Amino acid sequence: MRSFGPALRRLTRDLAETAGSYPRTTGIAAPQVGELWRVCLVDCTGHPKVPAPHGRLVMVNPVVRGWSGAEIGREGCLSLPDITANVERATHVEVAFQDLAGTRCAVRAEGFEARVILHEMDHLDGVLILDRVASLALDVFPRRSRGRRG
Ligand SMILES: [Zn+2]
Repeated sequence: MRSFGPALRRLTRDLAETAGSYPRTTGIAAPQVGELWRVCLVDCTGHPKVPAPHGRLVMVNPVVRGWSGAEIGREGCLSLPDITANVERATHVEVAFQDLAGTRCAVRAEGFEARVILHEMDHLDGVLILDRVASLALDVFPRRSRGRRG
């Protein structure tokens, strides 16, 4: 990981602007804007499936510390604008990360917010939802309306 500082803050601004230019986006990761940093943004504020969101999370070097449960849910992605897909994810996760100042933090999330966090963390390893579906024939759908994505 490169050092924390102005470049990281600039990247975070860039990520927030990019995500903000797509309506109802819940997350974005640095590789999606061509930057190989382990940084992602998650913000489920206002999402009907997230009754108690953590607000905007800027997660640097996120690592899953624990998880439980499993659930299949529909996901979209900024990097795959024409499809949605059914993806199995943990229902509860605990993730350790650093904030923009390098301070160690942790978050426990569940349900859709956990799903978004895991989706964005996948991007850090180059993994997309198409890599996660059980069946490319049965679990991938053309996107009809512009729903949430990340
Ligand atoms: Zn994505």
